[in-house]
Amino acid sequence: MTLTGIAISVALLIGLLFVQRAYWAWTAGGGLLLLEWAYAGPDSWVTWLGASALFGAVALLFGKSDWRCRWVTPLVMPRVGRLLPRLGETERIALEAGTVWWDKQLFSGRPDWGVLFDFRPQALSERERAFLDGPVERLCSMLREWDVCQSGDLPPDVWRFLKQERFFGMIIPEKYGGLGFSAQAHSAVVQKISSRSITAAVTAMVPNSLGPAELLLHYGTTAQRDHYLPRLARGEEIPCFALTGPEAGSDAAATQSEGIVCRGKYRGEEIVGMRLDWHKRYITLAPIATLIGLAFRLRDPDRLLGDEVERGITCALIPADLEGIEIGSRHDPMGIPFQNGPIVGRGVFVPLDFIIGGVERAGQGWRMLMESLAAGRSISLPSLSVGGAKLATRVVSAYAMVREQFDTPIGRFEGVEEPLARIAGLTYLADATRILTAAIVDAGEKPAVLSAIAKAYLTEALRSVTNDAMDIRAGAAIQRGPRNVLGNVYAAVPVGITVEGANILTRSMIIYGQGAVRCHPFALEEIRAFESGDLERFDRAFFGHVGHVFSTASRALLLGLSSGRLERAGPDGFARRYVQRLSQASSGFAIASEVCMASLGGQLKRREMITGRLADALAWMYLASASLKHFQDTGARVGDRPFVAWACEHALANVQQALDGVLRNLPARPLAWAIRALIFPLGRRARGPNDARVSEVATAVLDDAEARERLTSGIFVPPDDELGLGRLEAALEKAAEALRIEARLRAAARSGVIERAPGEALANAGLAAGVISRAELEALHAADEARAEVIRVDAFDAAEYPGMQR
Ligand SMILES: Cc1cc2nc3c(=O)[nH]c(=O)nc-3n(C[C@H](O)[C@H](O)[C@H](O)COP(=O)(O)OP(=O)(O)OC[C@H]3O[C@@H](n4cnc5c(N)ncnc54)[C@H](O)[C@@H]3O)c2cc1C
Repeated sequence: MTLTGIAISVALLIGLLFVQRAYWAWTAGGGLLLLEWAYAGPDSWVTWLGASALFGAVALLFGKSDWRCRWVTPLVMPRVGRLLPRLGETERIALEAGTVWWDKQLFSGRPDWGVLFDFRPQALSERERAFLDGPVERLCSMLREWDVCQSGDLPPDVWRFLKQERFFGMIIPEKYGGLGFSAQAHSAVVQKISSRSITAAVTAMVPNSLGPAELLLHYGTTAQRDHYLPRLARGEEIPCFALTGPEAGSDAAATQSEGIVCRGKYRGEEIVGMRLDWHKRYITLAPIATLIGLAFRLRDPDRLLGDEVERGITCALIPADLEGIEIGSRHDPMGIPFQNGPIVGRGVFVPLDFIIGGVERAGQGWRMLMESLAAGRSISLPSLSVGGAKLATRVVSAYAMVREQFDTPIGRFEGVEEPLARIAGLTYLADATRILTAAIVDAGEKPAVLSAIAKAYLTEALRSVTNDAMDIRAGAAIQRGPRNVLGNVYAAVPVGITVEGANILTRSMIIYGQGAVRCHPFALEEIRAFESGDLERFDRAFFGHVGHVFSTASRALLLGLSSGRLERAGPDGFARRYVQRLSQASSGFAIASEVCMASLGGQLKRREMITGRLADALAWMYLASASLKHFQDTGARVGDRPFVAWACEHALANVQQALDGVLRNLPARPLAWAIRALIFPLGRRARGPNDARVSEVATAVLDDAEARERLTSGIFVPPDDELGLGRLEAALEKAAEALRIEARLRAAARSGVIERAPGEALANAGLAAGVISRAELEALHAADEARAEVIRVDAFDAAEYPGMQR
């Protein structure tokens, strides 16, 4: 055999595998090798004939599915089945809930970019825009977060306004008196309020997330919907949803809150009902709730409902004023005074028709919760995070120009450019993800994995943004008071990190766990086929899977060798290279994921450091895809290039780091080495944004007013004279003008037109020499005054300070 012949065979094999023809690739590759062998003249024709016969038999056996099913699959199925994960009932419900979309494409290693770029997000309607410009703007102007913190609650007029304008009924259809908003509008509302008051945002957000209204809409009986939805929409009922208890936090299904089916008296009448005992904590809106959505374990020891004693988790709506309920006390969530507290119920007897969906829904609570989780999780915390991040971007970019040290705006120092670029880049990326995820919900999906990614990675983005913002504002960030508008955003970060699935759990367990089952092109089908004992179904899934592995490996290698350039799909122009590199990342992720599943089998779900890294890789690919989509959908503006480039380079470096970490820690070492050669044939080349890119992003957010405006669009910007952001904005305008005048003065001093002198003396010399006009001198004075005003921090009367709420 010649080397050329072998090379041609291997190239054919890889080429056919690349275009997803695994079976034909192996058959043609093997056939060519045999021909080449014959051409070269084998030492023994008997050996050649034997090898050819064997090859033909194997090719035929694997090529004809009925033969394969008869002879091969029965041997394979039990062996492979042992490696497949065993799912408990609660786990199965959680993993199977919701739908998949772009995550499935990324998981496949062969994303179809048309699916993403041809997808048209639903635009805001006239009514939704009017609501954002009207009631939301008005609400924001009524709010002063510092005062809210001092009084420990939203003012009564804000509560009235929230109810009157139906903020609590954003997801409730108009026919029930709600606003019936799209996910995009709902997200825009939460984003805007968050930029003004975290307390108000959480208050408005919770009734529209997973809770009584969402559950009633999907599972409620007609009578329940007709009764409660109009009352919830009008704010006549304040709902809360109580799942978490002292024993059941992340493992919510372990709740010890219990309902016993029994006979008892309700409003004087003897009925079959439930006696409830519960202890819940951390429940948002609980202290003022009138209607409790309660999750508990239902038991029927006397078999009053049927044969089943353990009915399982059940959700019911319980009026808060019933006897036996202790409600009203408050927790203090990091000093942010949204209503949050424990609820205890002792021997509370209620009718069975309090169960959401009626008695036939008894025991279906976990499924209902898991199925309904995605919509709220896609919107609430991602939007709150983006609102906070945009506010931080706006405040810090102004402050970095207004605040001068060493005679220079601090934003001009490279050391400050670095966190500034991170703030701006992450804000772009987070906003893009918020918009795309809401659009997916509007398209009718219940994105289980993508909503978990949006929740976890956008709340983490806010953590990074606020930490950087604190560092840039330094002392001014630390002194609390009405001037410090970022203090509460910083304090609220752990709230977002913890609720709706704490981030460690979401990252290390949920995202990849659910992704591997739901997004993998064959895994779920294999599990289902194995569990049902369906040989033909298993055969299709398993051999499809085998072909997928070979073709993904070949794709990873060829895309790795070409740095993604073999990817032909995606938009033309600036975004193209990033699309190609994401395709390469996706194929690398897919093959790394295969290797983890195959080598660790059922153990993989306990190797959370590995699944956490795989979650990182999947998540950063989604975040980068969302950024590219946003860039294209907003007209691929040149001014936005620095942001999208930073976002993609940062994301690609994170994907690479995650995959590298997986391979470094995979127990099957030779396999890890082989896969490393496939994924990184030219080494690890995604190095993240370089210094030039970082400076470019910082300059864009400091000097390009339109780009800054676009990056922070959709938040509330207070009037010029208001403490905090309002005055900072006014000072920025004056400082920008002053910087231009000062530059002229310095140039005049350098060229000897006027003498070098410090500040005011230089300006006066410039005026005398006609370098600047009197109006410009006044502009310099106005800028100085504005600067002095916005670098001030709050100081409190020593006598008054100890009594203040903080
Ligand atoms: C301000 C606030 C508002 C809330 N509002 C509500 C509400 O309205 N209704 C409601 O029902 N609940 C609410 N919660 C509860 C919230 O959902 C829980 O706090 C959350 O689920 C975590 O539970 P836990 O705090 O008991 O943490 P724990 O479950 O004790 O977890 C502690 C840590 O361990 C990690 N962890 C746990 N298991 C795993 C695992 N298998 N793998 C990896 N890491 C793991 C978690 O990620 C977390 O970091 C609220 C909480 C807060 C703080």
